[in-house]
Amino acid sequence: MSKAWQQRLADARAHRQQTDRWRTRQVAKSNTLDFAGNDYLGLAQDPRVSEAQAAGARRYGAGAGASHLVSGHLEAHDVLEEALARWTGRERALLFSTGYMANLGVLQALADRHTAIFQDRLNHASLIDGAALSGARSRRFHHRDAIDLESLLARSECAHKLVVSDGVFSMDGDVADIAALVEVSQQHSAWLMIDDAHGVGVLGDNGSGCVGSSWNSAEVPILVGTLGKALGTAGAFVAGDAALIDHLIQFSRSYIYTTAQPPAIAAATLTALEIVQSEPEHRTNLNTNIVYFRREALRVGLPLTTSVTPIQPLILGDEARTLHWAVQLRQKGVQVGAIRPPTVAKGEARLRITLSARHQEGDIDRLLEALAACQREEVACHANA
Ligand SMILES: *Cc1c(COP(=O)(O)O)cnc(C)c1O
Repeated sequence: MSKAWQQRLADARAHRQQTDRWRTRQVAKSNTLDFAGNDYLGLAQDPRVSEAQAAGARRYGAGAGASHLVSGHLEAHDVLEEALARWTGRERALLFSTGYMANLGVLQALADRHTAIFQDRLNHASLIDGAALSGARSRRFHHRDAIDLESLLARSECAHKLVVSDGVFSMDGDVADIAALVEVSQQHSAWLMIDDAHGVGVLGDNGSGCVGSSWNSAEVPILVGTLGKALGTAGAFVAGDAALIDHLIQFSRSYIYTTAQPPAIAAATLTALEIVQSEPEHRTNLNTNIVYFRREALRVGLPLTTSVTPIQPLILGDEARTLHWAVQLRQKGVQVGAIRPPTVAKGEARLRITLSARHQEGDIDRLLEALAACQREEVACHANA
C-alpha cells in the first residue's frame, strides 16, 4: 500500500476508535440468546422452510446461473412473485436479490434530475443511497412530520415528485403515519413509496405489513418488502401496478445486471409465506412477547420508547455507555445491537433489542435481568464516584 493510502486508512480508523464507533463482528454462537436479529417470527429456524430450500436446491441446483432477463428467471421465482402480489393486493410483484438492491433499483429507475425525492429523516441507508444514485433533487423531512413534508412539497416546482418513507423505522421501531403520507402525497400529485422491510410478516391482518392489504396501489403505488427479516430467508420484492413492474424490469439496473437469487431461496420463501398466511399464532406469540417485555422493562425503569413493534430501542445516548452495556450483556450470554452514529444521530446511541415469536418468557426474563444488572452497576459507579 502506498504511504498516502496507509495514512488515509489509519486516519479513518483512529477517528472511529476515538469516538467509540469502531465496529467489530462476532461469530454468532448458538448458546447465545439472540435479541439482535430480525427473524421476528422464527421462520429462519423453521424446519419446513429449511426443507423447502433443500428441496429447491435438489430440483433447481445451487444457483440461478444467470440474471432474470437472460436465463435465470425460474419457475420458483415466478410462482413466488405471484404469491407476493396476491398477498399484498397488488397486480404484480418483482423479486430483487436484496432489499438494498431493490431500493437502489427503484429510485434509480424512477427518478432523475427532473425528479424531487422527499424522504423521512430516519429512512434506511439504502433509500438515501438510492436517491443519491438517481441524481434526483433530494429533500429530507422531519421524522413522521407530514406538515414539514407538505411545506417542502408546496415549495417544489419539479414535475415529478416522489415521497419515500420506511413503514416501520428500523432503528426506532415506530410506524409511519401512512394515512397522512397518502393524503399529502395525493394533494401534491406525488407518488408514494413505502419500504416496509420490518412490517411485512409482522403487521396487518394477514401479516402483509403496515401497507399491504390496508392501502391499495392508488394510495401507495410503490411497496417494497424484504424477505430476510420476518420471512426468514433473503431477498426483497417491489409490489405495484403492472406498469410500474414493467418499467422496473426495463430500467432498474440492480435488477437487470445481477444474477437472479438462487431459486431454492425463492422456494423456501414461498413456504415461509404460506406459514405467515396460515399460522397467525406466530404473530400472536410475538405480540405477547412484546407486551411482556415492555411491561417488565417499564417496571424496572428501563428507558423504553413508545414503540409497539418487535424493535425496542433503549436509547442510552452516549456511544461508550452503549458499547459497555452491549459487552456486559454479551458476557451474560445475551446479544443485542449496539447502534451508534453514523447509523443514528449523535447523542442517540442505543441498544437495539428485537423480539421474536421464538423467545420464551424465560429468555426475556434473562434479558431483563442482564439489563437490570447493567443499571445496578451504573448506580454503584455513581455512588463510588
Ligand atoms: C434491512 C432493510 C433493508 C435492506 O434489506 P436487505 O434485504 O437486508 O438488503 C432495506 N430497508 C429497510 C428499512 C431495512 O430495514
